[in-house]
Amino acid sequence: MRQDNFEVEDREIYAALMESIDDYIYIGDLTSNKYLISQNMLDDFELPDRMVDDLVSAWGELIHEKDKVRFFKSIQDMLDGRTDSHNEEYQIRNRQGQYIWVHCRGRLYRDQESGRPRSFVGIVKKPTSIGKIDQVTGLHTHEKYVEAIEGMAAAGVMSKAGMILLGIDDFSRINTLKTHHFGDIVLRYVAQDLMKMLPPGTMLYRFDGDQFAILLPVGSRSTLFRIYEKIQNFTIEPHFAEGQEYSFTISAGAVCFSEIGLIEEDVEKCAAIALKEAKAMGKNRCVFFAPEMLDYKVREQKILQELAGSVRESFRGFHLAYQPITDATNLTVIGAEALLRFHSDTYGALGPDEFIPLLENTGWIFPVGRWVLSQAIKTCVRWREKIDDFTINVNVSCLQFKDDSFASVVEEELKRYGLPPRYLTLEMTETYFVTNKENLAATISYLHELGCKIAMDDFGTGYSSLGRLTEFNIDVVKIDRLFVQSLNANHYNYSFVEAVIRLCHRAGMKVCIEGVETALQQQNVSALHADSLQGFYVSRPVPPEDFQQNFIEHPDCMFAKAAPKNIPSQYLRMSGDKDLLLSMMDAVPLALNLWNQKYQNVECNQAAVKLFELQEEAEYLDRFFELSPEFQPDGLPSMQKARDKIKEAFEQGKSVFYWMHCRLDGEPIPCEVVLTRLSYKNEYVVAGYTKDLREHDLQAEKEFLDLADL
Ligand code: C2E
Ligand code: CA
Ligand code: CA
Repeated sequence: MRQDNFEVEDREIYAALMESIDDYIYIGDLTSNKYLISQNMLDDFELPDRMVDDLVSAWGELIHEKDKVRFFKSIQDMLDGRTDSHNEEYQIRNRQGQYIWVHCRGRLYRDQESGRPRSFVGIVKKPTSIGKIDQVTGLHTHEKYVEAIEGMAAAGVMSKAGMILLGIDDFSRINTLKTHHFGDIVLRYVAQDLMKMLPPGTMLYRFDGDQFAILLPVGSRSTLFRIYEKIQNFTIEPHFAEGQEYSFTISAGAVCFSEIGLIEEDVEKCAAIALKEAKAMGKNRCVFFAPEMLDYKVREQKILQELAGSVRESFRGFHLAYQPITDATNLTVIGAEALLRFHSDTYGALGPDEFIPLLENTGWIFPVGRWVLSQAIKTCVRWREKIDDFTINVNVSCLQFKDDSFASVVEEELKRYGLPPRYLTLEMTETYFVTNKENLAATISYLHELGCKIAMDDFGTGYSSLGRLTEFNIDVVKIDRLFVQSLNANHYNYSFVEAVIRLCHRAGMKVCIEGVETALQQQNVSALHADSLQGFYVSRPVPPEDFQQNFIEHPDCMFAKAAPKNIPSQYLRMSGDKDLLLSMMDAVPLALNLWNQKYQNVECNQAAVKLFELQEEAEYLDRFFELSPEFQPDGLPSMQKARDKIKEAFEQGKSVFYWMHCRLDGEPIPCEVVLTRLSYKNEYVVAGYTKDLREHDLQAEKEFLDLADL
């Protein structure tokens, strides 16, 4: 290129451009059909060289089947002279085998005299530089979905279409129990896999969180259902990411647009209602939207009316129920959680899950929330006359917490009744802590200065991970009842809860376990060293009069129902009588053996002998070291790992891990081992409980392996 005082080589311009732009660049000479592409384009896509013969064909090969026709048509339009520009978005396979969205804009230049195509130059924008593309999955976002729906409506082709809204079931488990990063990888893989399953012409979008939407131009019930079945079958297969196996199911809400013709509700809302129904019915299923599902709206309207009346008339119909919070081990009542109830004139007693969202949507949560605080504080003051350290827990909606005046409202209410702030704990759900970290810090520190305590509610259901638990300046973590219910049956949950408690204690936080319903659960919770518990085992939430009578007058009333103190402790003290000890060991159905301080295996029970199909105890003790392979599945030499674990148990009281044994005939036996330190004849020994996992499902075993690294 040359002008007065300006001279730059065209080749230098190309070179500079090609190196300095993030997007991919191609420049083609159409007389020879040779293209020069930027280095990053070669790096990222399966192309032969920087110089490519017939780039259009090579590139077209990589484009997703469903977009190919559209791509080639737009090229043909140019070659046929119908247009000189190319402007298309499509998905294309990168070198990792993933389909990513790109936006390709090119321009065709013609020979001025002959009009024949001479060169073709363009830029392919990467997903990072296109709005409306989800960064995690590379899929189009909700915004793009809205455009597509509007486009369909404008073209008058809505009535035949169909939509499936997909939600990964319990996705928060993957996010919480693994990591956020792992959760993102799973979303990306699911997105890629879904894409491969969809018929041409179908569009896939990522909505919020764990939701994806599929839009079909023609979507009869049978087509939609077949697609869901395909997806469901795919979820059954084993899935791996970063060397870890994970499992999940997917629920779906499907809508045939033809069936909702006369409803004013938009499609997305209908799909969301159907998805909610699918989850409520037990997940891992597809539910089709039916207009009757909107009947809830009538109920909602009526309740809204009643709530409005109640807020006007000094909170008529609202009352608080109180559920005891007790010491986890001896079950003495140490406080209560105030739980809001509403009595509807039309529908009777309503639970907070139904009306709190309505209060939040209307803003009535502010006056009602203040009323709750006020009632709860007043009651606490009264009960503290009997129980000195009695604390009251009050749930706070995230809207209240976000409100600038919240801290001063709390301060005023405390002053009004003269409750020392340390007897008030404000509960906020975990999700809010994670999504509003910055805004929270100031309010939390103000409330702390005041002297109140903060609890993170429903821990384990939101999106935080173990590592992030200690980031927040909180006093109590309440572990959601989801976990307690399977503590006994699921290693994964047991180890998770154990890890949370350990972490919290190390950071000076207390742990409360929610949803304790049985004696066995209470024993477990106590053995895990949780500080407090709450649940139907002690009591359901009850009216204040009942609470007063049952618990304030008799704070020790549950004492007799508490697990005996000496059962679960790590520091189990055993009788010094060896015969008694051995007969006790034989009564245990698990394989059990004892180690001394010199790492010698000194006793075992009958179950251990049987596990390895040996003849007698002596053989077990003699040949014990032949009962493990040389290396464990994690690559560590068995002898070294065994010593490390025994040492850990001697030092810390307990060690839980996965162990691969093998019988003398070589048959592998995957086991779970729990080592516990015991005091025996005035010295310490370590007891090893070995559980044969062969009958347990492989998934549980894998999860346990993952957790062993926590
Ligand atoms: P939450 O804060 O997790 O409260 C505990 C819920 O678990 C209560 O449900 C309680 O009845 C139930 N629960 C307690 N022990 C057990 C048990 O052993 N097993 C089972 N299955 N459930 C148990 P509830 O009263 O229906 O409250 C539901 C949610 O509504 C509460 O969950 C809380 O998030 C919210 N909520 C309640 N009162 C208020 C309030 O005053 N303000 C705000 N913002 N939210 C509230
Ligand atoms: Ca709560
Ligand atoms: Ca809770």
